Amino acid sequence: MPKIVNKKTPFKYAAGEVPETYKCQLCGATHVKLWRKYQMFVEDNTLVCAPCLSRLKTTVGFVPKFRDTKYGGRWTKPAGGQESDSIGEFVPAVPTEENDTFWGYSSVPKGGCDWWNKLPNGM
Ligand SMILES: [Zn+2]
Repeated sequence: MPKIVNKKTPFKYAAGEVPETYKCQLCGATHVKLWRKYQMFVEDNTLVCAPCLSRLKTTVGFVPKFRDTKYGGRWTKPAGGQESDSIGEFVPAVPTEENDTFWGYSSVPKGGCDWWNKLPNGM
């Protein structure tokens, strides 16, 4: 299992940096939005890009969309159609700037949401 965080390589959201460990474990894509399983220990988790998840889980061509809410930068609940903040049991994977773990689903700070939202879907 490749490491999905590495505290020896911290990074900055504001600088638009992407750590080396932030990579799709199925196709190797980097600098795209990645997803992780909800409620799993970091060591056991998997990072997957939207195109790979789309092939695995949902309709081919599914493009998840996200919105900021009035509550800081928290994810919104799915609002119908294809607009969703999760794909199956997968949620946005946002590493801390220390790159030592991932933020909990509902505790991602605004800077982390902005960082993640700026990454392309990869499709
Ligand atoms: Zn992939």
